[in-house]
Amino acid sequence: MNSDRYNSPHWTESDLISRLYGLDPEQGRSAAHLEECRECGALWLSVQARRGSVVNVAPVPDEALEERLRAQRQAVWARIEKPRRPFLWRMLPAAATALMIFAGVAMHQVKPPVPPVQTASTVSDAQFFNEIASVVNQETPRAADPLQGLFDSNAAPAAIEAQ
Ligand SMILES: [Zn+2]
Repeated sequence: MNSDRYNSPHWTESDLISRLYGLDPEQGRSAAHLEECRECGALWLSVQARRGSVVNVAPVPDEALEERLRAQRQAVWARIEKPRRPFLWRMLPAAATALMIFAGVAMHQVKPPVPPVQTASTVSDAQFFNEIASVVNQETPRAADPLQGLFDSNAAPAAIEAQ
């Protein structure tokens, strides 16, 4: 490897690998040397071919890569800006919410009305006051009747019948 013929030194394999990944070449190495020097040019091609076989993708020139990235960005933007789902499909959550509200209101109205309690309306005021008067006019409270029956054997059947 005699680099005297060239203005710049030969490239080593690690330099070429660094170049493959876009790193700056070491001081003194020039890209023009890869075209001038047959050895380094062949080594550069073999390094690229090896990477291609590993990655299974041919080395992409910068312009093609830029074009591919631009297309990718455009596809992403198109997907963001374009509504993905049809209008009716997007309205589905709102429709489901409306249906739930409607069902809630409908179930609230279906609730059976409370039957009227038959209490004071069936008993007339006169009957009510008569009953109160009879309770008030009793000499002994009704609850005392069974107790009186214990002491008066003759009155016992009458007390039981009175209840
Ligand atoms: Zn060389």
